[in-house]
Amino acid sequence: MTSHDETNNRAESLAGPEGGFPSQEQTPPGLTSHMEPLPDHGEDTYVGNGRLTGLRALITGGDSGIGRAVAIAYAREGADVALSYLPEEQEDAEATAEWVHKAGQKAVLIPGDLQTEKACAELAEKALAELGGIDILVNNAGFQMARTDGIEELRDEDLDRVIKTNLYATFWLTRAVVPHLTKGASIITTTSIQAYEPSTTLLDYAATKAALNNFTVNLAAELGPRGIRVNAVAPGPIWTPLQPATQEGDHLVSFGGDTPLGRAGQPSEVAPAFVFLASPADSSYVSATVIGVTGGKPVF
Ligand code: NAD
Ligand code: MG
Repeated sequence: MTSHDETNNRAESLAGPEGGFPSQEQTPPGLTSHMEPLPDHGEDTYVGNGRLTGLRALITGGDSGIGRAVAIAYAREGADVALSYLPEEQEDAEATAEWVHKAGQKAVLIPGDLQTEKACAELAEKALAELGGIDILVNNAGFQMARTDGIEELRDEDLDRVIKTNLYATFWLTRAVVPHLTKGASIITTTSIQAYEPSTTLLDYAATKAALNNFTVNLAAELGPRGIRVNAVAPGPIWTPLQPATQEGDHLVSFGGDTPLGRAGQPSEVAPAFVFLASPADSSYVSATVIGVTGGKPVF
């Protein structure tokens, strides 16, 4: 097969089902095995090139979706990884760990709900102990719940879950990890196209993602003098368990259709941005940047 054919085949396999994704719903946080079709995390395609040899990464939400694709890519680039996830996602975490092991790297599984300061501090402590240190922190865990009933109906418990998971946990975990980072280390946070083009159904979530962009540039200024780089990746619509778990099933039929590229992305298409930002050789002069992986929507 020529590389031209390979390119075409790859484009077809990423395109998603003709006619859109089948209507489907799951209870949060959602599991990969219940998704139709299964997402692509780069299992058959990601080729490592030693970009992260000997490095150690802590990835929150590393069990599934974007976090799983990042874990697979990091492992194939030569990094050991610690994965944080919710206890009910054990099967997804074990599947990701298997891919990491197949790449010849260590996978440390640390389940726990990050909505408390204590849980974040314990996660940092366990990851540091098991990996022997941390060079790359990926703040990727996130939660949203689409709502159509307006701000008057927004309940405190729902607001708490979104803000604690997306914002507080990022602050708490980063605070616990930073004292252990040394020159050359990298912090990468998953933000969203929602920071730039918010949906009314995701009022609270979009606000946390805009805040995380601000956190990224400001922390980059603080940690730059210590040789620590801080960046973010802002994905557009990506086919992960978060979507069937938090959107109305029918909404998925047209998921991603409003992007210039006209389709949703796969987790495998987001992971390379995380590799670039983690790689001391490739991005040594890149900090305070948000890389959009949005199917063509602008991130400025
Ligand atoms: P995902 O469901 O695979 O990953 C989200 C993960 O967050 C879960 O696997 C879970 O382990 C973790 N998580 C949620 N609540 C938690 C809690 N209280 N404690 C600990 N962990 C918790 O979905 P994904 O789409 O890969 O999400 C990864 C990141 O990407 C999230 O920050 C999300 O906001 C962001 N994002 C996703 C999309 C998309 O379209 N899928 C678009 C933009 C941004
Ligand atoms: Mg998950």
